[in-house]
Amino acid sequence: MRWEFGRRSTNVEDRRGSGVSGPVIGGGIGAIVLSVIVALLGGDPSVIWDQGNAPSDRPQTESPQTQRPPEENRMADFVSVVLADTEDTWSSLFRQMGETYVEPKLVLYSDAVRSACGTARSAVGPFYCPGDQKLYIDLSFYEDLKNRHQAPGDFAQAYVIAHEVGHHVQNLMGISDKVQALQRRSDRVQANQLSVRLELQADCFAGIWANHADRSRHILEQGDIEEALNAASQIGDDRLQSQAKGYVVPETFTHGTSAQRVRWFKRGIQSGDPAQCNTFAAANP
Ligand SMILES: [Zn+2]
Repeated sequence: MRWEFGRRSTNVEDRRGSGVSGPVIGGGIGAIVLSVIVALLGGDPSVIWDQGNAPSDRPQTESPQTQRPPEENRMADFVSVVLADTEDTWSSLFRQMGETYVEPKLVLYSDAVRSACGTARSAVGPFYCPGDQKLYIDLSFYEDLKNRHQAPGDFAQAYVIAHEVGHHVQNLMGISDKVQALQRRSDRVQANQLSVRLELQADCFAGIWANHADRSRHILEQGDIEEALNAASQIGDDRLQSQAKGYVVPETFTHGTSAQRVRWFKRGIQSGDPAQCNTFAAANP
């Protein structure tokens, strides 16, 4: 992916090393599954969140960027460029729809972070909190993506951010609110199906970003799309469940199967048209 010369976003809040230590979710298969499930893509991580241990309760120990490993600062730089690119894409798409895009903030943190949705440990993976319209990411997640989920590559990493931005777009469009209202009137199985449609739409929106970013800024290189498709496929609910338990329970899926995630991301990247991302209208998403 050609990103080095891209614009940097002014919406990154660097809270790494700001002293929210404390017990991080332990290892074990349970944590792995949770890390990915919410990871890519934000269902309801409240189970592994707690309201205590808020960052502000602890002394802030700032650690300047210059003391960090160069690789980590390069990663932070990369995230900033991808975020800026999503801002350019969605601002222009919203303008075409006669709307104004409100840019989300992106918080970089380490270990744990306080958000309007509660205090999260990095084990939850990247997530979007509608309450404060911020994306949260601990950069160590990218190591997991590469090593634990066999999804290396910078475009796979960009896809993670673009998916979370997709949730922000859903929030701005009022889709998330409608889905939540429906879920409150649904049983568990129906609520999970709605969650799958919401996640698949965020995947499709991530594809929309990739389409526009490439058309106007030519960021894609050979193999990039395959990288993102591989990431989408590695984090399907079926793949994750069978890795963790050896079997799958489709009614419990909240993010969609590998095949579904790949299909909707592809639809976004091929069409570039948000109207093609109506996963709620599809009989079989
Ligand atoms: Zn998601």
